[in-house]
Amino acid sequence: MKCEICKNDKATLKRPKTNEKICKNCFYFVFESEIHQTITTNELFKRGDVVAVGASGGKDSTVLASVLKTLNERYGYGVEFVLLAVDEGIRGYRDDSLETVKRNSVQYGMKLHIVSYHELYEGWSMDNIVNQVGMKNNCTYCGVFRRQALDRGAQALAIDHIVTGHNADDMAETVLMNILRGDIARLGRCTDIMTHSVDSVVRRSKPLKYAYEKEIVLYAHYKALDYFSTECTYSPEAFRGTARTLIKNLETVRSSTIIDIIHSAETFSLSRSSRHQVQQKCEKCGYISSNKVCKACVLLESLNAGLAKVKLDSAPSMSTPLRVLERLSF
Ligand code: SF4
Ligand code: ZN
Repeated sequence: MKCEICKNDKATLKRPKTNEKICKNCFYFVFESEIHQTITTNELFKRGDVVAVGASGGKDSTVLASVLKTLNERYGYGVEFVLLAVDEGIRGYRDDSLETVKRNSVQYGMKLHIVSYHELYEGWSMDNIVNQVGMKNNCTYCGVFRRQALDRGAQALAIDHIVTGHNADDMAETVLMNILRGDIARLGRCTDIMTHSVDSVVRRSKPLKYAYEKEIVLYAHYKALDYFSTECTYSPEAFRGTARTLIKNLETVRSSTIIDIIHSAETFSLSRSSRHQVQQKCEKCGYISSNKVCKACVLLESLNAGLAKVKLDSAPSMSTPLRVLERLSF
């Protein structure tokens, strides 16, 4: 059977997003072109920009780096891409995946900069944070620390724009999770291609927001990209897993579910939070913050005081520093 796009080569795969039967070269081209279109429609880059690619060694950020290199050359973006990786200090996971990122740096000719929790957060790594707080709220600590770590890494390189490998599946799950939590504020901004928050001078964007995970995996597989596929040792993400299963079930009866969810959320007319946030400096670390003390310092303080464990033991639902964070609003 001939490819439905070029009508020339043999069709070797069925494209997950459209069910078209196409050849490998046409798949590469449509996959890359859709990302190019996302980039140009939203004017993500301009000539002369230096942009950091948040790199974990996983399939999403590896495909992102590879496609950005291809597009930069094909369309002459004139952008310099740099890999920015975070070492959370997770033995048996991050140490191995960082080796992949180091190889990617050579393969794609992109400089690599690594920031570590250990250096930034008074010697705390995820391994000893989990020792202290257990496996329940570890991702909250990790998320807050990673966000600031990426920011600080970008700033050290004088870069004000980070692109991340969030894909369409991630985004659809996030939309559903925000609906299920009733979190209208986050629902309103979770499909934004570019985010810019008060407590950061760094913009973040998601060029893969319309790319299906299945297609990212196919692309990485056919192009034989060098990526790391092991999951984090501390990954619970039970809620996200449930949202994911729900979407997979919906997809069996409606193949456009993922894009439909994203498009619905994009067109919701939501009242954005009107709370006026002022950019200030954290009293403790001096870093930019929307509160007197930044979120990382709130958590750090609790870790140092050994508070988190005590509070978690007595109130397993949520520890004091996490309640404080809820109030601080992300
Ligand atoms: Fe951090 Fe949780 Fe992700 Fe592991 S799964 S890297 S602990 S946020
Ligand atoms: Zn073809």
